[in-house]
This record gives sequence, structure tokens and C-alpha cells, in this order.
Amino acid sequence: MSPGARATKSAATRRADARRGPGSKSGTGMSPAPPPSLPPEWREFVGRWLEAEGCTVKPAARGDWEVDLAAGLRRRWRRQRVRLVFDPLRATLPRGAWFTAPGSSAGRRILEASMEEPVLTRRTALAHVPGVSEEGLATVCKVRGLSWGPARLGPVRYERRVSFHAVATRWGGLPWQEPWVVLIGPTGELLEWHSAPEVPDVRSRDGLYQMEEELEPEQRARWMEVTRAHFERLLDEREQEWERQMGRLRDGELERLGAFFTARLEEEQERLRRRTSNGDEVELEQGDSTSIKLEWDRRAAEVRGRWAIRTEMRVWGLSEWAWPVADMEQELRSGAVHVRLKSLVDVARGRPDLPKCPSCGTPAEMLVRAHGTVACVRCAP
Ligand SMILES: [Zn+2]
Repeated sequence: MSPGARATKSAATRRADARRGPGSKSGTGMSPAPPPSLPPEWREFVGRWLEAEGCTVKPAARGDWEVDLAAGLRRRWRRQRVRLVFDPLRATLPRGAWFTAPGSSAGRRILEASMEEPVLTRRTALAHVPGVSEEGLATVCKVRGLSWGPARLGPVRYERRVSFHAVATRWGGLPWQEPWVVLIGPTGELLEWHSAPEVPDVRSRDGLYQMEEELEPEQRARWMEVTRAHFERLLDEREQEWERQMGRLRDGELERLGAFFTARLEEEQERLRRRTSNGDEVELEQGDSTSIKLEWDRRAAEVRGRWAIRTEMRVWGLSEWAWPVADMEQELRSGAVHVRLKSLVDVARGRPDLPKCPSCGTPAEMLVRAHGTVACVRCAP
């Protein structure tokens, strides 16, 4: 659209255009709704993705968007900004604009770019009520010769966690896929991982309601690196297991193949012995044995190739979480011995972490009385 044409628009239309910003559903303003062929989620997806990538999206005339591209996309698409046109009935596009329906070339360009980097979502884990059960640490740590005092839960605060969602695919052998999710804590430490598409046992709502400052892109990149290392280690372990499983099946097939060709070679040699005693052409017959061996090699290589494992891991999603946690204190008592233990409670699950052994500091599933104090079973004599 030319600047002149824009100037002729009425103030009402401009306001309507302004309301149709990124993230808003299309067709809610006063300007005509786009035809039903354009899925309403598409515009929202494009807007959210562009903003997550760091682009500035401004509504322009006729429901278009004027997008100031982020550095990465400037390099990728070799332009500073782009005008996105969503209206499929527009007869002519403004110079350099992209028609942005899902199947259009600009739509494909956006989808391709968004598939390369994982989809980013922001979620708040809902607090479990009560934050922790009355028994507190007694639910996770057994004691002998001691008794737990009452659990005292501190105020709930929200810490930033990030979950990374990936799919591991095994090609070769018997193709197979597994969903994985890894949850990372505020300093990049691995908190938990599951072979599941989502973090289990947590209820959530969209958006980061309890977080004030934005996550720096550098920090996100660092977490991504840490997580890749976790996933690679998991994939290594999984590959070894798969290798053992597939190895058994492959070896079984190789054995059957071996039995078949060994039998053929024996027959051939038996025939050869009979013919040699008759003084026939020995060299040609030995040639037959050679071709059987070659055929055996070829078939065996083919079997090995078919069972060879190739794996691929793709991170498809990343969720930033505001996660409710609280400190908890609880005393362990036995006569005059009173030891105060601390734990961090996962308030989303109402679950305390294992308490640390007061003697060695490792998380303890069982604590006992030892030398007038408390220790884990490894420290206790
Ligand atoms: Zn200990």
C-alpha cells in the first residue's frame, strides 16, 4: 500500500487495524474479516513466533503487519523488515510484501524457520494445596530411633525452570520413537527427566504470572547447551540399550544365514569330492565355492546394514516455567537430640526434596541416630 492510500483511510479503520495486533484473533476489528480459508490460529501463531524471535510487529493498514526483523531473521531472509499480508483476496501486494497464508511461500518460510528452533511457551505451574502434607519429610525419608516434629513451610516463591521437549528416533533395526522431557532448574541443573511428552503430575496455566524480569536470550542459549548435553547422554545410554536389543536380533539372523550357507558349502564340497575322484574340472568347481562365500558375505553385510542403528534427537519445544517452591524446616528428635533439617518443597506437586544427611550432606532416604546426632545409613557405623 502506498503512503497516499494509507492517508485516505478513516480513523475508525486505523483503530480497527491497530486492534488487530499480533496475538489477537483475526476478524475481530471493524475491517472485514478474512475469508474462512485462513485458519484463525495462524495469525496468532505467526505473531507469537515473530515476537518470541525478537521481532517488532506493528499493525499496518488493511490488517497487514509491518515487521521489524530480529538479527537472526535479518541474516536468514536478507532484509531488515517485511510487510506481511494475510488477506488472501488482496489483488496486488505492496512492493516487497509477503503474502502469508499457511501454504504460501512466506508461510512456508516462517514454518521452516520456526521448526528449526523449538517452539517456546511460557507456563505457570499451579500450586498444590496444601503446599506439603502435614507429615512433611516423613513422606520421603524414613527414620530409625528418631521421630519427626511438625513440618514448618515457609512462604511460597516462584522460581524459573525450563523444560525441554524432544523426540528421539531410532532408524534402522526396528524404527522407534520416544518422547523425552527434561526439567532444568534456575542455575541450569538437571532436576528431572521423563520419557514423556510433558512434565508429569503438574497442572499449569499459560503465561508467566509470577516472574518479573524477562529471561535473557543468552541465558536461554546456555540452558539449551546444558540440555543438549543431557539429551546426548540420554541418547548414548539409550543407543547402548538399543544396540544390545537389536544386536540379539541381528545375530540371530546372521546365525540363520550362516547355517544356510554353511550347509550349501558342505553340499558343494561333497559334490566336489565326488567329481575330483572322477578326475573332472576341479578349478571351476572351486570357483562355485568362492561365489557361495561371496554371496554369503554380501548377504551378511546387507543384514548388518539393515540392523545398524541410526538415531536422531530433535528438540521441538521449550517451556519457561514459573514454578512454586518453598523452604521447609522440620526437626528430628530422639530424647535430648534435636536436629533441624531443611528441604525445598516442590509446591506444584506438594512434594519435599530429600533432606540432606547432616553428616555428609548427601540426600538421604533414611536417617538414623548416630553418636548423639543424626546420620544417613552410609555415615552411621
Ligand atoms: Zn551421610
